[in-house]
Amino acid sequence: MITELVDTLKREKRLDASGYRSLLECCNADEISYLHSSAQETAIGRFGHRIYIRGLIEITNICRNDCLYCGIRKSNRNISRYWLSTDEVLARCSFGFERGFRTFVLQGGEMPDDADSYIEDLCRRIRAGFPDCAITLSLGERREESYRRFFEAGATRYLLRHETHNVSHYSRLHPAEMSLDKRLHCLETLKSTGYQTGTGIMVGSPYQTMDNIVEDIVYIGRLQPEMIGLGPFIPHKDTVFSGWYSEHQPSANAEGMDNYSGRTDLYDRRIDLTMKLISIFRLMFPDALIPSTTALATISADGREKGILAGANVLMPNLSPENIRGDYSLYDGKASSGAESAEGLDALKTRIERIGYHIVTDKGDYNRK
Ligand code: SAM
Repeated sequence: MITELVDTLKREKRLDASGYRSLLECCNADEISYLHSSAQETAIGRFGHRIYIRGLIEITNICRNDCLYCGIRKSNRNISRYWLSTDEVLARCSFGFERGFRTFVLQGGEMPDDADSYIEDLCRRIRAGFPDCAITLSLGERREESYRRFFEAGATRYLLRHETHNVSHYSRLHPAEMSLDKRLHCLETLKSTGYQTGTGIMVGSPYQTMDNIVEDIVYIGRLQPEMIGLGPFIPHKDTVFSGWYSEHQPSANAEGMDNYSGRTDLYDRRIDLTMKLISIFRLMFPDALIPSTTALATISADGREKGILAGANVLMPNLSPENIRGDYSLYDGKASSGAESAEGLDALKTRIERIGYHIVTDKGDYNRK
């Protein structure tokens, strides 16, 4: 019985793999609603109706990696590359601070190793200029000493999605020079350095199976991250997976991959599965910081609200300079204006209030009760 599984998850904070699978596969509307309302109750028990906001500053779209699904992959020649100066980032922090943001998330492609000094300096200057704000980094795989330098310079949180815990699935989404082992090692290093660490996956990514997702849940259960990011996969026109789910059969692309082989039905269930995963993780980790992601808001008009009603407690409006937002195109149609932007904060507040929640401006550090 699904309701019993939900109650067990709520009580014991874990299930066996078959239990997670049953929740993900459940199609009964009342049972799904029980999963979401139990997760929502858990979130309200910990956080009340408070939703934390983080200002997302996309500091560069320059990337040394070539992840097959990502619009800023290095082999995409159709975007103009940018790199924000330290002053430009600080100006965005000031803009955000005046509007109530107390966490700045610096996200970007994976910069070369010699960008470490730039990142370190950025952290130091934000720390000095905005001492009561938290700095979160989302800058990919870096060396152990780099993670330590950024931490010592004032960053306290790091987001690094593992994307999938299955080696063979990982290798179908990434070029041969990238490895799941390295990604997982980075996550261990981040934790041992002292960061509040976030991981997560794309839901409905090419070749993903339900078993893969179950494996991800089990892994995340072991890792015990403080933050969990879950967003639906959305194709990008300049990637290998551009036509992955389009109506017309494309020919094999330049990298020799047939866009249709390996298709699973998870893509069509991305919204439902993302919401279920938010709820499952809320029940597993009552204190976790779980965003309702931009990707969910991009593919569903009320995706942001759906995420919150499934148990999410964080929103990350876009605080990047407006002129570069179009160049940080991870996937087609990525939302970065209106309620998804720092400028649209009033609209966002109104929308969130309509579902009975309110935005708070405190840092919202991870706090185990
Ligand atoms: N370079 C850093 C990293 O690898 O963690 C941070 C930037 S990366 C672009 C941020 C996240 O965007 C990735 O972890 C991935 O899950 C997500 N992403 C990239 N392409 C996507 C797509 N096509 N659909 C949905 N999410 C995507």
